[in-house]
Amino acid sequence: MSRSSHVKLEEQITALLDSDEQQGNPLYPLLSELWEVHQELARRIDRISHISDAYQSLAKEREQSLSERVNKQLRQLEKVARISDRYQKMMRDLNIALHEASTHDPLTGLGNRRLLIERLKEESERARRNGHSFSVAMLDIDHFKRINDQYGHEVGDKVLTEVARVLDAEIREADLCGRWGGEEFIILLPETTAFDAQQVIERVREAVLHLHLHVNAENFSLSISAGIAAHHIGNSYSETVNRADGALLQAKQQGRNLCRVAADHPA
Ligand code: GH3
Ligand code: MG
Ligand code: MG
Repeated sequence: MSRSSHVKLEEQITALLDSDEQQGNPLYPLLSELWEVHQELARRIDRISHISDAYQSLAKEREQSLSERVNKQLRQLEKVARISDRYQKMMRDLNIALHEASTHDPLTGLGNRRLLIERLKEESERARRNGHSFSVAMLDIDHFKRINDQYGHEVGDKVLTEVARVLDAEIREADLCGRWGGEEFIILLPETTAFDAQQVIERVREAVLHLHLHVNAENFSLSISAGIAAHHIGNSYSETVNRADGALLQAKQQGRNLCRVAADHPA
């Protein structure tokens, strides 16, 4: 039944009950009672649907505020995760920078003595495990003190940087060049015999010889001396470094601007 015909029926019944003519009708008391019951039921249904509407809107409000709270918390969590990611990246970058600073020479940018020792230890361990040995070259700038004395310490520093650049440019990808201290450098040549190392170091020596430096209007060049030692499996890395140092001393004694190879078994 539609809403309008329902209203119409109610109006008809009300009119019927209000009319005096029907008072004597035997159906009148029954209809009147039925009408009361109907009215009461209609009021109850009204109340129930009212309560149900109120309950539904309350539930909806709760749901909304709950989902708002959950969304807010999610946004906060995302923010915390982003901060934590940034912080972790900062820590990683800082660690890399710290490792770089502790293993590199600030003047020349080459690896420092610590990095060289780390790699020398690794290479001697590796050689012991797989039988592939390496060579070490110790290089020293000839008469470097004269450069400092003649042009000053700052020029001396510039010369060290230039020499380091040439050494690093001339060696192979797998080789490592580092500053051992003062004006001394070490080149570590993995999986290389003394003979092959000598070819590389002779090339490096030549390249330094061709380096032309300018101070004011003056031009000058310089040379390096080098000593090479092949690592003997079972020896310590420092024994090999000492043998390379001994060969360097020979190069100095024999006139400088030379490359000498250490005897396999020192006398
Ligand atoms: P040789 O040919 O026998 O090696 O002679 P040399 O003059 O090169 O050797 P010596 O050991 O007598 O002098 C090395 C000089 O290197 C002395 C020292 O002041 C200088 N030196 C060491 N480290 C640095 C540095 O970082 N900067 C500068 N400018 N000079 C340095
Ligand atoms: Mg020197
Ligand atoms: Mg020296």
